[in-house]
Amino acid sequence: MIQRRKSRKVKVGNIFIGGDYPVTVQTMPTSKTTNIKETVEIIKKCEDAGLDIVRLGIPDIESARTIREIKKLIKVPIVADIHFDYKIALEAIKSGADKIRLNPGNIKEKWKVEEIVRACKDNGIPIRIGVNAGSIDRSKYPKPTPEALVNSAFDHVKILEDLGFYDIVISVKHNDVITMVEAYRLIASKCDYPLHLGVTEAGTEFKSTIKSTIGIGTLLMEGIGDTIRVSLTGDSIKEVEIGVAILQQFGHKPTYVDVVSCPLCARADVNIIELTNEFEKKVRNIKKKVKVAIMGCVVNGPGESMDADIGISCGKNGSAAYKNGKFYKKINNNEILDFLLEEVNNFKENTKS
Ligand code: SF4
Repeated sequence: MIQRRKSRKVKVGNIFIGGDYPVTVQTMPTSKTTNIKETVEIIKKCEDAGLDIVRLGIPDIESARTIREIKKLIKVPIVADIHFDYKIALEAIKSGADKIRLNPGNIKEKWKVEEIVRACKDNGIPIRIGVNAGSIDRSKYPKPTPEALVNSAFDHVKILEDLGFYDIVISVKHNDVITMVEAYRLIASKCDYPLHLGVTEAGTEFKSTIKSTIGIGTLLMEGIGDTIRVSLTGDSIKEVEIGVAILQQFGHKPTYVDVVSCPLCARADVNIIELTNEFEKKVRNIKKKVKVAIMGCVVNGPGESMDADIGISCGKNGSAAYKNGKFYKKINNNEILDFLLEEVNNFKENTKS
């Protein structure tokens, strides 16, 4: 049983980050925020894939103003990602941003930070302080070590705390997984602010999947982390799909059709790879919690099939079908896909004895 680190909770639109709330998944659309049509299209696809919070890059006043329009067309709360300019932050808040990402130390004049904090307090909006290897002050922290990332984050946190503001989320990202994990462990031991996890600049899909799964997964195993973003050079929807798949392993997101399939070897007489891929494609949008085993032969087939709600253990002259943990009947090998689909469609959740 994983004991979650006790973090304070902050409200972002209609959801919470921190406390006992499930860990949420975030992404950033790859479109220009001012291209409302494209941005909304991306967000809607991501919502269908399990997105909880969207972060929008807000490089200028015009982008800040579009938040008002985008908000009307989507379901998830919006985080406005702002750097340096307090006027853009104020405009984003006025336009309905549910949270802002901003490092107050990057804004030199204190009165400007005070204005932002006042606007956030008035609107009940939290601020994420996001430190990463590329953005820490190198004159103060020459090397982006875990200690440097954490101390740099606390420099920003102190500015907000001195203004009596505590609705803070922190991230200390790095592109090196081990440095990232150590930085989060360190900051987790020093404060109770909710943490936004991510391996930054993690590369293209394949590499980012591995780095993010190790980095985010290790921390979640230790109970650290309240919201995540998988960062990859590619489609936003992939970030969401990978993020959701990570969170499913920890029970923070529901797993619907959960497929257990064998890797296929010389013993199998059925093409399990083709069969499983076809099956997964067809059940992709079914929101029903059901475990299905697709196994190539009798070595592990009956065991895994009995452990699932629906199972198939393939053989040379037909396959053994299982339902609710028991042998059900023998079927022809060319009927397997239809059998599995029909049983999934007929399956009633929680009927397993
Ligand atoms: S279940 Fe059978 S076919 Fe599949 S990997 Fe194991 S031994 Fe090979």
